[in-house]
Amino acid sequence: MKKIFSAFLSIMLMTSFAGVNHTHAEGDPDSSENVDNIIFLIPDGFSASHATNYRHYKGEYTIFDETLVGMMQTTSADNRVTDSAAAGTAMATGVKTNNEMLGVDPDGNELHSILKAATQHGKASGLVATSTITHATPAAFAANVLSRESEAEIAPQLIGEVDVLLGGGKDFFLPEKEGGHHEDVNLIAEAEELGYTFIENRDQLLGADSGKLLGLFAGEGMAPELDRDEAVEPSLAEMTEVAIESLRNNEDGFFLMVEGSQIDWASHAHDSPWILKDTEAFEAAVEAAVAFAEEDENTLVVIAGDHDTAGMSVGGYDEYESNVDILHGVTATGDYMAEQLDENRDNIADVLQTYANIEPTDEELSVIAEAEEPNIAINRVISERAFVGFTSDAHTGVDVPLYAFGKHSEKFHGFLDNTDLPFLMAEAMGIDFDPYDNVQEGGELPVTATNSPTFALFGLVLALMSAGGLVYFRFTRKVKEE
Ligand SMILES: [Zn+2]
Repeated sequence: MKKIFSAFLSIMLMTSFAGVNHTHAEGDPDSSENVDNIIFLIPDGFSASHATNYRHYKGEYTIFDETLVGMMQTTSADNRVTDSAAAGTAMATGVKTNNEMLGVDPDGNELHSILKAATQHGKASGLVATSTITHATPAAFAANVLSRESEAEIAPQLIGEVDVLLGGGKDFFLPEKEGGHHEDVNLIAEAEELGYTFIENRDQLLGADSGKLLGLFAGEGMAPELDRDEAVEPSLAEMTEVAIESLRNNEDGFFLMVEGSQIDWASHAHDSPWILKDTEAFEAAVEAAVAFAEEDENTLVVIAGDHDTAGMSVGGYDEYESNVDILHGVTATGDYMAEQLDENRDNIADVLQTYANIEPTDEELSVIAEAEEPNIAINRVISERAFVGFTSDAHTGVDVPLYAFGKHSEKFHGFLDNTDLPFLMAEAMGIDFDPYDNVQEGGELPVTATNSPTFALFGLVLALMSAGGLVYFRFTRKVKEE
């Protein structure tokens, strides 16, 4: 009997993980119980080891330590190790899909996102990133494509749907004759006709009037924080502050997603200084969001990485040591340093002295001199000196920490799945949310317990049998205790 009961218990658990409890959320957005605004900040590729190394680098507790509420699993529909497209789709729509797919389920059905549900309830919306704004994570909130690579196809799906768009990726909005990826169309001109103000540098951003904003500060991704020209490109915190200022004028509130995109890129490259500097820039954006939520008292802030990148360690190389403090002396990314090497690579020592404040050993010099990718070799030399290890060039499937602050942050606690987040956000805003709300013609609603009488009956029988099992379990436990 016990075995049968535990079998039922695991079926119940599996079905609840599969999202049966979370097929839709309903509510009353006008109730004063609900939050007006949600700011969802995603540090791409950030997990517990990033948080720990950053605390040591900073030398004090961080905003992450102050807002930690739980852990989150990140699996995709077809892989224990997710990519950013499937992870973004899960966090934006509450549905797991296959790696590479964006805003669609594994069968290709287009999904409705929490951002779009918020705008249907009169809220303003914004997306901010340091990657292209058409990249997987921001795009998951407003686009539906079978492959994340289709960034030119994603760009027109954002215009008109999202009020504030700030990031890189200008080339995905321009025609070929202006260096862009569209045959003829100029999406920037089209956006201006729809009432967007187009901006392309830091001064224009800081001077922008509120309202619809299209800010594209680089052709592709924006500069890493370490290499950023502060006169030209804004910081992530500056973009976040301008987005909040612009969106807060909407009386029904807003939904804003902010991505620290390059923590992931830096982790793929094993570039510890870039990881920590971009984490610092991301923390400043979180602080801006939290400061607004403290003042406003009607705002929920949620922070969660979409997955771990590179399996970073705190300490490593078979030593009991962590020395991330030396990374404060590094003033450029490995990519930038590699670009400063001359053709014969006979200035490696000079470059490392100038930009990394280290005197390389003969062994380190020869590793960099002979490397196929000198940028990666430089990163590994610096990371080893800081005792920051990496187990992969790719993502890993480890659970990531979850953070929340502000009104209704208590809804986010314990162990969550990435698909839980948009439903909890809908609950906090008191709005209806169903990812299959807007199924396009030709798409079919998958059979779930909520739309199939057979499934509903099966569920009822299952629930009754489990209840019986629970009574039996309680009874036997009681007997044992006595
Ligand atoms: Zn990645």
